[in-house]
Amino acid sequence: MRKNIVAGNWKMNKTLPEGLALAKEIDNAVKGENLNCEIVIGTPFIHLASVADALSSGKIAVAAQNCADKISGAYTGEVSAAQVKSTGAEYVILGHSERREYYHETSEILNAKVALTLENQLIPIYCCGEPKQVREANTQNAYVKRQLDETVFNLSEVDFAKLVIAYEPIWAIGTGLTATTEQAQEMLAYIRSLIVEKFGKQIAENTSILYGGSCNAKNAPELFAQPDIDGGLIGGASLKCDDFVQIVKAF
Ligand code: PEP
Repeated sequence: MRKNIVAGNWKMNKTLPEGLALAKEIDNAVKGENLNCEIVIGTPFIHLASVADALSSGKIAVAAQNCADKISGAYTGEVSAAQVKSTGAEYVILGHSERREYYHETSEILNAKVALTLENQLIPIYCCGEPKQVREANTQNAYVKRQLDETVFNLSEVDFAKLVIAYEPIWAIGTGLTATTEQAQEMLAYIRSLIVEKFGKQIAENTSILYGGSCNAKNAPELFAQPDIDGGLIGGASLKCDDFVQIVKAF
């Protein structure tokens, strides 16, 4: 059975004291609740260890938003997968469209990051999704298929089975323009059908696939009710405890 997951992506927001306060607030809000999903908080690197230490509800895992594509050494400013693991984090968000666009992350770089993440027993939340002009040309399926073919579809069955996939149409990220429930369900069902072709029905049925892009407390219940939507990757709405917890409770 695949897991439902609601993952927050704080991006480059919150100082350490602010982040710690938000994490504790969310932790307290879900303590003792009967939830139908796992909660993940994707914090900046500097927050990881403190946030992981501060959580006590047993319901929240911590994610980094990136890691280096090298094992260790003279790479000033980089943070390795092993270093992320040593903080107590359990997940790493990889291939976010902001990293692909602003930091020129290619499929080759992402392959190295996915491999190092897995080698360090961290779970990649692997992002894919098309820009607006691709959606307008109605070629989004081919675009997303290529992103997956060039990266995670090269993994072994054993490794692919450890992944979480997040579909995030770039035109919906931070824009308030959510994909319609039909568009999101259609793409996630398509991704699942590609996983069936590549790795078989059982792995496809067990892979958690998330939707991301202006997901909020209002639209989450309808999105999460779709058969192929196993949760959300949440940007803006993960920065306020009430909003985020309402999304968590949409399951
Ligand atoms: C994201 O960047 O992963 C995201 C989904 O952002 P938002 O929810 O703000 O659109």
